[in-house]
Amino acid sequence: MKIVAPCMECQKELGHPSFEPIFADYYEGAVAYIECSRGHKSAVLLQSQKFEILLESAANALLEGYTIEAASSLSAAYERFFEFSINVFCKKNAITKQALDETFKQVSKQSERQIGGFLFLHLITFGSNYALSKRIPELRNKVIHQGYIPTPEEVIDFGELIYQEIYSITQLLKSRMQSEMQQVIMDDLQSKSEKIPPETPRATSTGAMFFSLSMAEQKRDFHEALASYKDAKEVIFGSVPYMKLLNKAVSLYSKLRGGV
Ligand SMILES: [Zn+2]
Repeated sequence: MKIVAPCMECQKELGHPSFEPIFADYYEGAVAYIECSRGHKSAVLLQSQKFEILLESAANALLEGYTIEAASSLSAAYERFFEFSINVFCKKNAITKQALDETFKQVSKQSERQIGGFLFLHLITFGSNYALSKRIPELRNKVIHQGYIPTPEEVIDFGELIYQEIYSITQLLKSRMQSEMQQVIMDDLQSKSEKIPPETPRATSTGAMFFSLSMAEQKRDFHEALASYKDAKEVIFGSVPYMKLLNKAVSLYSKLRGGV
């Protein structure tokens, strides 16, 4: 996975952005290690939840025409979203991390068990049934278990089903358990930060743009989210040449001042 990040150490030294666009990779830990042209090494922590990263991975794969990868990432995002929701419900019930981890370990390899856990937590918390989409497992099983290569249209339909499930549950969590949801995000950020070597400077990024809980509003459907993400990517890539020019100007100005 990739992120474009500024060097915050340059910002601290210069008192303004260096405008150097730094492209960095990140993986499971959701931390990108960057090095700017001035030699600052730092870590960028992504605030994004795993399901948000997987949704963005799906969007990128789909935009590039890799449909089986897109469907597979969507399916993984769907599963990890239930894990996130379970964390929020447990936070609401003041369950300790250790107790939750011990229980989750027993269901971690079987997503059906996790979805079952979610359904009962929803029932107990809200006193009503949550009706899951019955169509999601069909395409998921074809892609994951039979190596079926879907068309872009099929992936978009699949993405819409998954997006609607995630969107509607997110709205529910936001309206009923906003502070618990924020706490889960902060706990996750803390545990990511603890894995970075202590002496490494770090900055936090909101991370994924396709679907982000850090935004006040989320796009209402998959089509809208995909179109908006495509536009945002074009703006970022389109601005890279200008950022490089600005960065050159900043470097020149610093040298003239005899600074860094
Ligand atoms: Zn720097």
